[in-house]
Amino acid sequence: MDAISINYKELMDNLFDGVCFVDNNKAIRYWNKAAENITGFTADEVLGKVCRESILTFRDDEGRNLCDALCPLEKPAADSSARETELYLHHKDGRRIPVAIRITPIRDSEGSITGVLELFSDISSKSATLLKIKELEKLSMTDTLTMLANRRCIQIELESRLQELARFNWPFAVLYMDIDHFKNINDTYGHDTGDAVLKTVADALVASVRPFDLMGRWGGEEFIGIMRNVDEKGLYHIGDRLRQLVAASYVAIDQKKISVTVSAGGTMAKTDDTVEEVVKRADELMFKSKATGRNCLTISD
Ligand code: GH3
Ligand code: MG
Ligand code: MG
Repeated sequence: MDAISINYKELMDNLFDGVCFVDNNKAIRYWNKAAENITGFTADEVLGKVCRESILTFRDDEGRNLCDALCPLEKPAADSSARETELYLHHKDGRRIPVAIRITPIRDSEGSITGVLELFSDISSKSATLLKIKELEKLSMTDTLTMLANRRCIQIELESRLQELARFNWPFAVLYMDIDHFKNINDTYGHDTGDAVLKTVADALVASVRPFDLMGRWGGEEFIGIMRNVDEKGLYHIGDRLRQLVAASYVAIDQKKISVTVSAGGTMAKTDDTVEEVVKRADELMFKSKATGRNCLTISD
């Protein structure tokens, strides 16, 4: 094969990734065109400067400076292998830019580290897209009026809990709650007050369950709680506490305190239940509470 002469500087300058070489004194010795484009700093502005005093102040999501933790020059003995991570650096104009960075120690023929090569690429569009996706995911799972989990989210959660129950026998319960005579609230005070009452009930419910339980709005004036790791007795305690907390909450409008009650039905999930079956059972128990005078809880498995 013919020997070809490679102009390495030309090659590095044309890389899509930013390339930076830092020597053992932490002075920046090489800075390619992509590094200039990504950071806004020209080679003239950074060459010879000590890296951590200039632009390469890498920070994590919480703004912590990661130079010490990441730099193989800081901890050569502990671990001097290549590191790859995603973090932020500062653009010359002050913006934070998310970058994917790969840091590799460079060694001489004796194996001693002579410096560090840093390769970094701008991932702003990627992180913007990921944020959008996260936002959309959140929206598609949230009830916009109450900010509780929506029906779709409850269904997905129930599906997962049923799988866990079947596989690992981890018990959980479903609590179905329906506001009593809610139509009267709308008819008497108007729809907006009705909405305010729904929010107040939702706040009372969500504030009173354990972090690993899920509280959601099933629809209209109906709520579902998914309680993990409870038995029937525990379910009764939680359910009745929720019922009392709703009854004790109110919306203050024109010096009037408007409050509502809920009728509730609670059931332990069974290994062969489907989502529809367990919800239906809880709903039917809730109707028993309606029939026995409302503002109460009926439990059975
Ligand atoms: P019961 O004690 O038998 O449950 O009586 P209820 O009046 O609560 O039952 P019904 O199902 O007749 O009425 C539910 C009402 O909830 C009717 C509907 O207009 C109202 N509603 C459903 N969704 C909303 C909402 O998002 N906002 C408001 N303000 N009202 C709603
Ligand atoms: Mg209803
Ligand atoms: Mg109702």
